[in-house]
Amino acid sequence: MYLIDTHSHIYDEAFDDDRDAVIERCKAAGVGRIMLPDIDSGSRGRMFDLARRHPSLCLPMAGLHPTSVNDNPRWRDELDAVERLLREPPVERLYGIGETGLDLYWSDAYLTEQTESLHAQIELALQYDLPVVIHTRSAWERMTDVIRAYRGRGLRGIFHAFSADPDLYRTLRACGDFVFGIGGVATFRNGRLDEAVRAIALDEMVLETDSPYLTPEPLRGRRNESSYLTYICEKVAAVKGLAPDEVAAATSLTAERIFRLDPLGGR
Ligand SMILES: [Zn+2]
Repeated sequence: MYLIDTHSHIYDEAFDDDRDAVIERCKAAGVGRIMLPDIDSGSRGRMFDLARRHPSLCLPMAGLHPTSVNDNPRWRDELDAVERLLREPPVERLYGIGETGLDLYWSDAYLTEQTESLHAQIELALQYDLPVVIHTRSAWERMTDVIRAYRGRGLRGIFHAFSADPDLYRTLRACGDFVFGIGGVATFRNGRLDEAVRAIALDEMVLETDSPYLTPEPLRGRRNESSYLTYICEKVAAVKGLAPDEVAAATSLTAERIFRLDPLGGR
């Protein structure tokens, strides 16, 4: 089985004590690539260090997280820094723009700034022909309004941690080449995401941990890591009535397509 974790913050300080062991477990579990979404200048150095140490496993992006816009008078400088990264990449390749998005969970006072940041990063994704990785929390209607404006412009990307309903999935997928990131929330016992997982076409779905957050059942409450992607894969397979191998193969192929990666995994 070959899996791709399309969203992990393994460069986070939560892994400082045992990152090498986490990487070994991830390889043993069949996770052949870990996509690293960027947050802001505070953690970017650690992300690129990790990407340099594991150039075929840990693949970095460039972006500004919506909550890093909140309460930050210098957020436009952060956006300029993202643009500089794209002009002069500090590593061989940047694989995407993100994570950007809208997050009104902590505060709705910065919606205007978050929206401007999102638009700017989508434009960068179009300009550099990269996928955009979009974070949405307590803001799905607003997000849909933003994304509708890009319909027909050839945008591609991932709605990370997709947690909305099947109607919204159908609306968003019609606006571009979008796929939907399914993570630990899909395994939670309330079954809140089952309907969406059933509705999303298998070839429009990718798997993600969002580690160290959103740990899947049965390990919920612990720190999350990429090796736990197998639990998410198994849950998706159970909901869709497929074999885990089929889900692994299809979601890896989709991740390779969206991020334009060379195929791994012996196909
Ligand atoms: Zn994230």
